[in-house]
Formats: sequence, structure tokens, C-alpha cells
Amino acid sequence: MGSLAKEKPHAVCMPIPAQGHINAMMQFAKVLHLHGFFITFIHTEFNYNRILKSRGPSSLQGLPDFQFETIPDGLPPSDQNIPQDVKQVCQSTQEHCAIPFHNLVLKLNNSSASRVPRVSCIISDIITKFTLPTSQELHIPNIFLCSVSACGFWGFFNYQQLMDKGLIPFKSEDDLINGYLNKEVDWIPGLKNMRIRDMPSFLRTTDPEDFWFKFLKDETQCAMHATAIIFNTFDDLEGEVLETMSPVLPPLYSVGPLSLILKEMPTNPLESAGSNLWKEKPGCIEWLDGKREGSVVYVNFGSITVMSNEQMVEFAWGLANCGHDFMWVIRSDLVKGEKAVLPEEFLNEITESGRGFLAGWCPQEKVLMHPSVGGFLTHCGWNSTMESICAGVPMICWPFFADQQTNCHYACSEWGIGMEIENNAKRDEVEGMIRELMDGDKGKDMKKKALEWKRLATMAVKQDGSSMKNLKTLISQVLLPKQ
Ligand code: UDP
Repeated sequence: MGSLAKEKPHAVCMPIPAQGHINAMMQFAKVLHLHGFFITFIHTEFNYNRILKSRGPSSLQGLPDFQFETIPDGLPPSDQNIPQDVKQVCQSTQEHCAIPFHNLVLKLNNSSASRVPRVSCIISDIITKFTLPTSQELHIPNIFLCSVSACGFWGFFNYQQLMDKGLIPFKSEDDLINGYLNKEVDWIPGLKNMRIRDMPSFLRTTDPEDFWFKFLKDETQCAMHATAIIFNTFDDLEGEVLETMSPVLPPLYSVGPLSLILKEMPTNPLESAGSNLWKEKPGCIEWLDGKREGSVVYVNFGSITVMSNEQMVEFAWGLANCGHDFMWVIRSDLVKGEKAVLPEEFLNEITESGRGFLAGWCPQEKVLMHPSVGGFLTHCGWNSTMESICAGVPMICWPFFADQQTNCHYACSEWGIGMEIENNAKRDEVEGMIRELMDGDKGKDMKKKALEWKRLATMAVKQDGSSMKNLKTLISQVLLPKQ
């Protein structure tokens, strides 16, 4: 390593400390590493210790030219077994991380005696504007990685316009339940057939100072100060919105799906580098191995979504009654403020029939790619949506918050690969939707379209595909230090 490492370009990667954002950043960091970059990947101290616990030291230590550093998140110490509240983390990092981040970059640059090269670029999550003062002061390019969809990002970015037009914040709480959510928003260029309900959800407030609303409105505006912006998407999927955004924003590069870009690369020396905050349940893939092709419904609501125990029970009976095998991930913190309790009758039934596999966390990308999986009941987080597209798996969409409403709208109305299910769906509706997804004509049509999107995603990462070409331009023109 020694002097060779010292000559490498050095990217410092700073994700927001939430699972989906960490995953997208980790994929991009691995892509850069495979292109000859030295990588410093920053976790908060809390997350570093959680990953150590869930994955063991091999995922964090001893990787060639790839090191982890930590900064404090500004929150008081808390139990490692209980996941952090994402709102608190975002609030805290925004207030407390600028200085530790700055000091860390200075430390990296001053480590003249070690193998660490000078920092040549910063890759920041699109909602970590606290990195900007450092890059500006040290004259280092700061490239923002957008780990939400392009359409979701553009929705957030346009909060200000909706505000200027007097459409948000809502005038009264009644707007949340009356027809206001169905009001059309057909004047934002690049966004198609949108209603207020399809915009990222944080505008559903009467309070202009509401944390999420203000945070996303302000943070996304800061993208104007980035050197460039990277999207984990591809042109065939979101070309229209990317084209519309392009004149308004710094140079944009759609380089997704990042997971497929990685698969295009030769052997990956970072195979063991991982970023799971939860411990995977063993045996998921083996259980799927024993099932028929396309026969399993996979259910997972990501890392942040919460629901009431009543809602979870409705999903449980919907799954039990639909007649299909299912794999269902129930995170330890899935149920709001309490422990998830499933009816004993339900648990007995699935144990006896062998039809259901429950887990607290699973290797989702591998699960979705497994031939036995025929459909995905999802919250429509952007990583999950992309992973489903990459696997050619159609979805039932139960959006929770943020860009998920926009992703759901696009999946259902524009891309033809999703069906939305009511927020407070009862067991009969859950059962009916799953039957339609797995056996119905609409399900078959969605499957066909999902396979077509999978084909287009696969093409985008080939040597002459749009994402691979964009990646090469990004690296050569923006990320490599000028000689
Ligand atoms: N994930 C996983 N196993 C699980 C649940 C989630 O590996 O059991 C991963 C999933 O593959 C995705 C990420 O966690 O990469 C979740 O990100 P997403 O954007 O879909 O949703 P969020 O968690 O941000 O709401």
C-alpha cells in the first residue's frame, strides 16, 4: 500500500446516519474504490458501534485503502440495542456535526506520516449541508449524493414554490382529511399528473416551522451550492425530471442503479464491508430455496417506517388468508412505541403450515433477487424501490413518509409496476391486493412491466449504457483532481 495509497485520489463520504442513506453512500463509495480511490467513510459513533455489533469487525476494519472514521452525532449516549429516532438524528447532525466534520477533514489532510492521501473530494448526502463550509474553506469539490428518487428530490425542492403560491402549509387540519390532498399540482415542470398527496409527505402540515417540512425545504435548496449532484437512478426511468432539473441545478449525474453498477465491476475486494444497523436473521435464502418460482410474497417496510399494532395485525391476517407463502420482516422497532405482538393463532398457523417466514432483518437485495419471490409489499423507500426494479419484482405500495408518496405515485401511475394500498387497509383488502398481485391480470401486467424496467436498468449499467457513461464522465471531469 504505502506510497501507492498516498498517490490515490481520496474521497471522504458523509451519509446522513440513517440506513437507506448509508446503504446508497456505501454502494457509491465501493464504486469509487473500484475506480482507484482511497475512501474515508464516516459514521456517527453510535452507528459505528451498532454495525460492529450486527456485522462484526470484518465489515469495518482491515479493508484495503478503505477506512472508517467517526464523528459524534450530538445526541446524549443511548442504549445501543434501541435504534435512534431519525428525526432527532437529523436535527442533531444539522446542529452539531459541522465542526467535528471540519476537524476530521483537517486531521486527514495533516496525517503526513501515514498512508492517507490528501482529501481530493467530499461526497455528501444531499441533506448534509453541514459539510459545505469545510469544502468551501478548503477548496475541495463537494458532490452531493441524492439517495431519494429524482422525482422525490424535485418535489422537496419545489416546496418553496408551493409556499410562494400559498398552497402550503395547509390552512387547517381539515385539509388533511378533506379533498385538498387530491388537488392537482400540474404546474411543476418535470413532475407528471401530481396531486398534493403525491408530493413528498412533509408538506402535510399547518406549521411552517414543522421540523421535517423546513428541514427538507432548506436542505434541498442547498443543493445549489454543490459542485455536482449524483442520483441513484437511470435516464430511462427518470429522464424527464432529470432534464427539467438540469438547467436549475449544478451538473447532474444519474449513475444508478448503483447496486447493478457494482455487479458490473470485476471482483470486489470489499465484499465484507457492510453497513447493516440490524442483525440479519440467518436462513432467509435457504427458506426461499425451498419454494416454487415466483410463489413468495416478500413484505418489508424498511428501516424507519412505524405502524400501530392493530395495523400490523391486519397485515398478518391478510397474509395468512391470501394463500401464498410469505417472508415478512418485522423490525424490533416496527410498532410505534411498543413491542410488536402478533396473535398466537396466526403464529401457530404459519408454524404448522410452513407458509410464513418471519425475521427481524434480512439481506433484502438477495431476497428480492431470489427467483422464488413473486411480489413485494413495500413502503416504497427509494432503495427498496430500486432494488425491486433491479429484480423485476412488482409491488404493493404502502408509503409511509418523505419521498415514498412520490415514489408510490410513479410506481403505480407512470411505471406500471405498483398498486397502492390504503393507509389503514383492513385484512380483506390486504388479502385481495396480494391475490391480485400474485394471480390477477393486473399482477401479470405489472410483472411484465417490472421485467422490462429490469432490462432497462441492466442496460443502463453496461459499458455503453447511460449510467456507466455518466459515471465515467463524473469521475474523470469532476472527481479526479486536476493535474
Ligand atoms: N434493508 C435490508 N434488510 C431489511 C430491511 C431493509 O437490507 O430487512 C435495506 C434495504 O435493502 C434498503 C434499505 O435497507 O437498501 C432501506 O432503504 P429504503 O430507502 O428502502 O427505506 P428507508 O429505510 O430509508 O425507509
